[in-house]
Amino acid sequence: MSRIKRFFRTYFLTELLGGLRLTWAHLWKRKVTVQYPEERTPQSPRFRGLHALRRYPNGEERCIACKLCEAVCPAAAITIEAGPREDDGSRRTTRYEIDMFKCIYCGFCEESCPVDSIVETRIFDYHFEKRGDNILTKEQLLAIGDRYEAMIAEDKAADAPYR
Ligand code: SF4
Ligand code: SF4
Repeated sequence: MSRIKRFFRTYFLTELLGGLRLTWAHLWKRKVTVQYPEERTPQSPRFRGLHALRRYPNGEERCIACKLCEAVCPAAAITIEAGPREDDGSRRTTRYEIDMFKCIYCGFCEESCPVDSIVETRIFDYHFEKRGDNILTKEQLLAIGDRYEAMIAEDKAADAPYR
């Protein structure tokens, strides 16, 4: 930069004025900042967030303990133990856990499930309060599924034509 240019920039504050001009111009434009959590940005029905286990409309859990999700999980985040159910002898999970600290939200578990049991919901703003809370149990996952079934079903229907 020439010395004359540097002189003008230093003593006539041209850079400062340029910045103020930009601020002034943006003062009157439409605001783009999202006031989270009151406002939310749009989400895809394929968003991969908090996991859930689903039930059929009659209340029966969908999972048949095939362990495909456990096998396909690249982070080894899923732990399943299975056995025959006492009342009807059908194969069900006796333990289904996901370590949310290991999970990389790849969606492979959801893709592999033959009965649409394990899914990733659009919920992303959740937290854990103490050590061990990161392990989601079968009961917790089913409870999440029960709570958000309407949203999950809607997302599945919206995504169906693209599968
Ligand atoms: S989203 Fe991926 S990493 Fe997370 S539990 Fe499913 S398969 Fe494993
Ligand atoms: S959640 Fe789906 S893939 Fe995983 S064990 Fe159950 S039925 Fe199989």
